[in-house]
Amino acid sequence: MKPTNQAAEALRTLPSMDILLGSPGIEHFFPLIGRETVKSILTEVLDAVRRELLDGRSEKTSAETTLARALPVLERRARYSLVPVVNATGVVIHTNLGRSCLADEAAEAVLAAAKSYSTLEYNLEEGKRGRRTDHVEWLLRRVTGAEAGLAVNNNAGAVLLSLAALCQGKEVVVSRGELVEIGGSFRIPEIMAFSGVRLVEVGATNRTHLRDYERAITENTAALLKVHPSNFRMEGFVSSVPREELAALASKRGVHFIEDLGSGTLIDLSGCGLGGEPTVRDCLSQGVHLVTFSGDKMLGGPQIGGVVGRRRLVDALRTYPLHRALRVDKMTLAAFEATLRLYLRGKEEKIPTIAMLSVGKDTLKARAEALLHSLRTAFPDGRFSLTEVDDAVGGGAFPAETLSGWGVAVSLEQWGSAGRVQRLLRRSEPPVVAGARENETILHVRTLLSGDDERILAAFRSAERLTVSGEGGAGREKMERG
Ligand SMILES: *Cc1c(COP(=O)(O)O)cnc(C)c1O
Repeated sequence: MKPTNQAAEALRTLPSMDILLGSPGIEHFFPLIGRETVKSILTEVLDAVRRELLDGRSEKTSAETTLARALPVLERRARYSLVPVVNATGVVIHTNLGRSCLADEAAEAVLAAAKSYSTLEYNLEEGKRGRRTDHVEWLLRRVTGAEAGLAVNNNAGAVLLSLAALCQGKEVVVSRGELVEIGGSFRIPEIMAFSGVRLVEVGATNRTHLRDYERAITENTAALLKVHPSNFRMEGFVSSVPREELAALASKRGVHFIEDLGSGTLIDLSGCGLGGEPTVRDCLSQGVHLVTFSGDKMLGGPQIGGVVGRRRLVDALRTYPLHRALRVDKMTLAAFEATLRLYLRGKEEKIPTIAMLSVGKDTLKARAEALLHSLRTAFPDGRFSLTEVDDAVGGGAFPAETLSGWGVAVSLEQWGSAGRVQRLLRRSEPPVVAGARENETILHVRTLLSGDDERILAAFRSAERLTVSGEGGAGREKMERG
């Protein structure tokens, strides 16, 4: 379509690529993302502006206004995207914030494995090929009491591999109360279909009995599957069949008994008020043949799917071709070995997830008081107060349990609503992700790591700068200083 006169005139105001590339401040982005990337971003912006001029949405443009549109995009692309954040939400296994933080030992092992050649698949004694799976197998056996163990990419992968390798083309019996969806993308019925297994549902949503399983087993049945309901809890008139009874039934009828335990607790946490959840070892000793679990939930390690249990079954998974697609990378393996070694040595308190879950309430209160003091000193006219908070385990573990903790409540009406304060804190480097309660911002101290108090102060300082400069969005009021 030929542009109208008016549009043609408007198009003449469109700056050339050369003008844009030569504009002050643009050169700065060349070493950060490459000249060609800068050009392609400018091209997209120019195209958008051209369309607006053509269809009359705007009448003219200039190099300045075009650059003003390109700059935020260039800045976003020049910043790293996957960056550390301060978790002040009090949710320990925060799936959106990366679940578990590694222990120092595990992080060091990752770095060493990443930067150097390693024994990943090499047997030093024999000077020949070794097995990638050997590094952690003996450790998995030690910490869970299993006959054999294997680590794959994640727990979803562990479930998929177990079903595909042991049950493909056959039926697997699951209680209707356990056909759960976890985190939006992991649904038991879908994983089962994907692994080529036919799902046989038994019982009712709230109650399943042993006789339901008994009746469902046929000559086509490969396994009974028990699934941890993770992120939801049913209350009232509910019942499920104890593991021992399912194990006896599976043995009697010659089928496998597999359990997807989800969070994979390795140690008893009833001392921290988190009782009632079986450990991986408990499941095995109650007769489960094969247990799968995540590495980065209650275990506190890297993203991994653990599978432990009977040797014959684990061997079948290890040699099944799909395993190749789910195998664990060397950095993850290094982190997992280091994490399991902490369990072996009884040094679980060095694992941040375990430390955060088991920390005493007095310690949390003292930490909240220290943070409160620093904030009040730095911002004498802000409204900060000590407050009791409800923290959470997260990661689908212990959904009914809240952990009682301490935090600092922040109210900075000078900066705008609580939502705006939280937005400003997220714009700091590193970003601070805070909790919220009504119209207050809450900094939960349970999930803070060493050095985070300083980072929080820095975030408040940068937030203050943004409010003063008016960049932080609505409102220009400077926070009054005493
Ligand atoms: C979390 C969870 C999964 C998924 O584990 P990933 O390690 O995230 O793949 C599967 N099953 C249960 C019961 C879970 O809790």
